[in-house]
Amino acid sequence: MNELKKIAILGSTGSIGKQALDLCRRHPDRYRVTALTARASKETLFEQVREFRPEAAGLTEGIRPEDIPEDLRFCRFLSGKEALHAAAAEVEADMVLVSIVGIAGLSGVMDALEAGRQVLLANKEALVTGGHLVTDLARKKGKPLLPVDSEHSAIFQCLQAAGPNPAERILLTASGGPFRTWDRERILKATPEEALKHPNWNMGAKITIDSASMFNKGLEIMEARWLFDMPEDRIQVVIHPESIVHSGIVFRDGAVLAQLGQPDMRVPIGYAMSFPERLETGVPAPDLFSLGKLTFEQPDEAKFPALRLARASLRAGGAACTVFNGANEAAVAAFLRKEIPFGEIACRVERALEKLAGLKADSIEDIWEADRRSRLVG
Ligand code: MG
Repeated sequence: MNELKKIAILGSTGSIGKQALDLCRRHPDRYRVTALTARASKETLFEQVREFRPEAAGLTEGIRPEDIPEDLRFCRFLSGKEALHAAAAEVEADMVLVSIVGIAGLSGVMDALEAGRQVLLANKEALVTGGHLVTDLARKKGKPLLPVDSEHSAIFQCLQAAGPNPAERILLTASGGPFRTWDRERILKATPEEALKHPNWNMGAKITIDSASMFNKGLEIMEARWLFDMPEDRIQVVIHPESIVHSGIVFRDGAVLAQLGQPDMRVPIGYAMSFPERLETGVPAPDLFSLGKLTFEQPDEAKFPALRLARASLRAGGAACTVFNGANEAAVAAFLRKEIPFGEIACRVERALEKLAGLKADSIEDIWEADRRSRLVG
């Protein structure tokens, strides 16, 4: 008989949130959903509340009492920041899945850790912007973060298998995105439609654009730096177009341990939810015979400046990674509105890093301020 775990999900109507609920649906004897939050997807949230019957639910963009359907009155509905705080820290939960996108994830993670919850981390920005604050608090509370990002889950799984042996190096794999084989000139002029076509993973718009520009991999170098306490020069990016090897670690004896699987987020989500056990996810293992071969390439930093900028930001310290993140987010939004060409995204981030060099990140307030200013750089 499994112990019933209570789970709160911040960002339940996004891609990760929905897949986590799919696992809860599969394993009703293991998981009880106690809180759900979304940004604005009211109807989807209502459907989820109807099915999973959490104690609390919230919309961060706000909800009016008259909008709440009659049959959902059993659930406490909250609005705005209060919704995130309640789901992260007030409602009873053993674990909190933080799968909201953006810097709002930072306060969600801090609140959940402060309340002594186990955090399953699918939000990148919390570590990118406040990695030192988050990992300090997690250590103090004795609740290490469980990564949900597929690459970081892979590294975490390898480290579990490694036992007491430290990793010399991390191999962080990347699909290379839809522009991997394009030449530089063509990439600079790519349209949103082209950038939104990811070859392997089915994800939200922001992260899909970030995969095309490789800013996603830049953010993931930052995540790995904090999750595994590994300096950036020991995190190697490996282009692997098939997305079957999800990342790995290198030992000092020359052995490499890697984790393989289908590109399906239910595996890393399930591993974080059931750690240290493994859950039946409905995802089959990859068929190596039909795959035939797996290929690996060096990343091309001239075509994709994001990797260079990410490493420079980590070395600069302070709020540089917050600036990298905020400037990129604003530039991606401008690109999706067709105000700037694709190639301008990296240029804007580089300008923001130059302009805002030396900003500090000693507190959450410093980080908000750096984030705000980074978005204003055109
Ligand atoms: Mg990833």
